[in-house]
Amino acid sequence: MLFIQIALVTMLLLGLTVLSACTKQANQSDAKSKQAVTSEQIQAMSREDIQRALKRIESSHTPTSQKMGAMCYEPVAPASGYFEYVCPVDGDKTVFSLKSNAFDQATHLQELRGSVERLRPLAKGIALSLDEGRLCAKCHPALPDAERFVSLVLQYADGRTVRTDRVTPEDLKYLTGFFSGGLSYLSQGPDQEPLKPKVARLKELLGEKGVGT
Ligand SMILES: [Zn+2]
Repeated sequence: MLFIQIALVTMLLLGLTVLSACTKQANQSDAKSKQAVTSEQIQAMSREDIQRALKRIESSHTPTSQKMGAMCYEPVAPASGYFEYVCPVDGDKTVFSLKSNAFDQATHLQELRGSVERLRPLAKGIALSLDEGRLCAKCHPALPDAERFVSLVLQYADGRTVRTDRVTPEDLKYLTGFFSGGLSYLSQGPDQEPLKPKVARLKELLGEKGVGT
């Protein structure tokens, strides 16, 4: 009987030791993941953080571009001379001919949408969206062709909204580089280009044009 009691107590103690070891390990890995989060925290940017990051890019030595050699790059231009835009709101179709001002924007739409999706988790604390309403002839029936474009909308936590009309896939590449915290951006395939020459455009996109410096 005594033997069974001792055995039980021993098992209990062993169990506790294992348990405490587990908790210790969990705490350690917790600390590790907290360290790993640092880069994410940088991405949860306040306005000061954004201005500081812009200054860092401005004052950086222009790193040389790193061309990794041309990858097979497939242009997204459709074979036909027109582009049919389907409005996600009402399903209405608007056709843009090659001559239309909006043709370029409309044909880049998939790329723009994909880039915004990828940007969202990077640009923490900022709500990013594309406003493509102007492409739809039903949503905006009275617009002249020149006024049909896609806009990028940034909504900051402090309530500021920054719109950039006629946003391009390049713009979103600059922003992706910026919110990744580096001094360069991926231009095409694996090629890296410095952000410094793009800082004026970045300021426009981020709503920091004419602020500070
Ligand atoms: Zn519509």
